[in-house]
Amino acid sequence: TEQSYIMIKPDGVQRGLVGEIIKRFEQRGYTLKGLKLINVDRALAEKHYEDLSARPFFGALVEYICSGPVCAMVWEGKNIVAAGRTMIGATNPQASAPGTIRGDYSIEVGRNIIHGSDSVESATREIGLWFPEGIT
Ligand code: ATP
Ligand code: MG
Repeated sequence: TEQSYIMIKPDGVQRGLVGEIIKRFEQRGYTLKGLKLINVDRALAEKHYEDLSARPFFGALVEYICSGPVCAMVWEGKNIVAAGRTMIGATNPQASAPGTIRGDYSIEVGRNIIHGSDSVESATREIGLWFPEGIT
């Protein structure tokens, strides 16, 4: 079945939102397949967001992801990639609907709490990048 790479960013971890976010995915019916807290180095952050390397906010984005531990997760279940993105909400929290994770917990695009893979291909790449040891 389908898997997605979901990551609670440093602000989400620091604000104590790990439990709330995990609860939402569990209650929806998805299965947690991998979970770890990581202090991200620049190389890993840059690799994760390599498609955005030409964007003006890239440096700030890398700093943000490296600013504290992240909660790296693999979730599994029917349509998890698209459904996970719906649960997360729009990139800019100002456009995220209430009821979404970003819409309920954030107001700044540069501190938007959580990442979710944007396609099945991205999910495969990101799971390999963040869980090179593999998942059970
Ligand atoms: P993510 O990949 O983190 O799940 P996303 O897929 O919704 O987010 P992307 O376009 O992949 O959005 O951007 C990656 C991240 O870069 C965003 O989540 C946000 O933290 C940051 N970002 C995107 N656009 C901007 C912007 N205009 N200004 C500042 N930061 C931005
Ligand atoms: Mg993205």
